[in-house]
Amino acid sequence: MVAALENGSVIDHIPTDKLFTIVQLLQLDKFNNEVIIANNLGSKVMNRKGLIKISEKFFTEDEISQLAVVCPKIKLTVIRNYKVVEKREINLPETLINIVKCANPVCITNNEPMHTYFNIHNATRTAKCRYCGKEQSLDNIKLK
Ligand SMILES: [Zn+2]
Repeated sequence: MVAALENGSVIDHIPTDKLFTIVQLLQLDKFNNEVIIANNLGSKVMNRKGLIKISEKFFTEDEISQLAVVCPKIKLTVIRNYKVVEKREINLPETLINIVKCANPVCITNNEPMHTYFNIHNATRTAKCRYCGKEQSLDNIKLK
């Protein structure tokens, strides 16, 4: 078993095929504190899952939104002084502000230095650009 974190975050219930996408997204290869990455762990809920423990890392709401786009329904636990201070399932927010890019090359957000703004439709996992109206699947969307 891996050592308990003194301070940091645990991302749990990661689909096994998304684990390394998240490692990339969080740039954990450049991270200098202790990181534990585990995959294909047994899980009652999911059969197999991935898990990441990151020492001294506390996510911003923007980072949490990015995680939710890549991987809905992962569990985030925040630990301070060996105690769990927060535990939640990450769900997609109703809007994504400056988290993802519009796929429409002529959209104003791709041509002016400005924030993107998307409304999220959870049931179909699509995002609609508030400026040009283009809808995109969250499974192919590019993070900003
Ligand atoms: Zn757009």
